[in-house]
Amino acid sequence: MREVYLDYNATTPVDPRVVDVMTTFLKYYYHNPSSLYSRAKEVRKAVESAREKVAKLINARPDEIIFTSGGSESDNMALKGVALYLKDRGNHIITSSIEHHAVLHTCKFLEKMGFEVTYLPVDRYGLVDPDELKKAIKPETILVSVMMANNEIGTIEPIKELAEVAHDHGVLFHTDAVQAVGKIPVDAKELGVDLLSLSAHKFYGPKGVGALYIKKGVRLYPLIHGGSQEKKLRAGTENVAGIVGTGKAAEIAMAEMGHEAQKIKPLRDRLEKEIKEKIPEVIVNGHPEKRLFNTLNVCIKYIEGEGMLTLLDMYRICVSSGSACSSSSLEPSHVLLAIGLPHEIAHGSLRFSFGKYNTEEDVNKVIEVLPDIVSKLRAVSPYGSEHGFGDS
Ligand SMILES: *Cc1c(COP(=O)(O)O)cnc(C)c1O
Repeated sequence: MREVYLDYNATTPVDPRVVDVMTTFLKYYYHNPSSLYSRAKEVRKAVESAREKVAKLINARPDEIIFTSGGSESDNMALKGVALYLKDRGNHIITSSIEHHAVLHTCKFLEKMGFEVTYLPVDRYGLVDPDELKKAIKPETILVSVMMANNEIGTIEPIKELAEVAHDHGVLFHTDAVQAVGKIPVDAKELGVDLLSLSAHKFYGPKGVGALYIKKGVRLYPLIHGGSQEKKLRAGTENVAGIVGTGKAAEIAMAEMGHEAQKIKPLRDRLEKEIKEKIPEVIVNGHPEKRLFNTLNVCIKYIEGEGMLTLLDMYRICVSSGSACSSSSLEPSHVLLAIGLPHEIAHGSLRFSFGKYNTEEDVNKVIEVLPDIVSKLRAVSPYGSEHGFGDS
């Protein structure tokens, strides 16, 4: 049976062109980029060329890009690095209630270390209101962190307006742009952010590589101390193959993302339309327009996402229920609760996230099997029979 992969927000397959350059570096260019012989200098050049490509993808300067081990490290570095650097100026941080756990759990840790964190609410679409941010800023506020696009529901936040509010009060602004970079145009200069996180495996690059954009002049402490790599902000011998692969993935995204969006959005839209037509009592989550073109998050009432996921897996259809990180716990997604859904509805969530290798057949396959799966589960669920979906 062919796999139907609809979980691109969790991770993407690596583009074969990325695999090719990575393989070359793993096989032949194993030299340490800090060494002084000519082959090592070629490796150094390749790392710097990758930095230029990543910079170009977000309209930054190459010296504003620090390579990390991924989106989580970039988020940790931005929050902990700035918090520690500015702790004598203030101890207050503001974020949103729908951030990825890489931001939320870092904030929880900083609270234990004596910082104070405000978690901004969102509206029913998942939008953060710039006026709410303005009200939350205090003289002690040192950093605001709001994600650019939400990984679960796809809502795209008004980052430029939010960054302006922060700057009006002399506060630094970080955005977790992991779900945006490589999918939609991201211009760090135009957005006016001070720090921006990205991750290669969300745009057809390798897992375990990411970057933090640090606007020229912004200061923070490193998390990893050691050698003087990455301007002494991130010690350790560079993940050369990963970095070169990330550069290639950035170059491909730059050239092809507009075309991909045009191909992917109609597939997502058709699945949304057909689910609404063929399955009664469904809620579509996220903003109707300000939403990633590849993301469809639905709540199917009276049943649990996990049950659907297991049955879809029997047809080799890969989707998520809530977010990958929360799907092992019994608590429903914090994002769905934050947009105001009651527990029992939030439990019935399914996230379909599309990417460049999806086809019309993938949508057909889901439409072929999902309505039956839903009917079967509703027939045996106590809530389902209460609402007229039972067998009797
Ligand atoms: C995937 C993701 C991360 C974590 O990135 P990793 O590279 O997997 O560490 C952080 N934030 C968001 C919004 C994500 O989707």
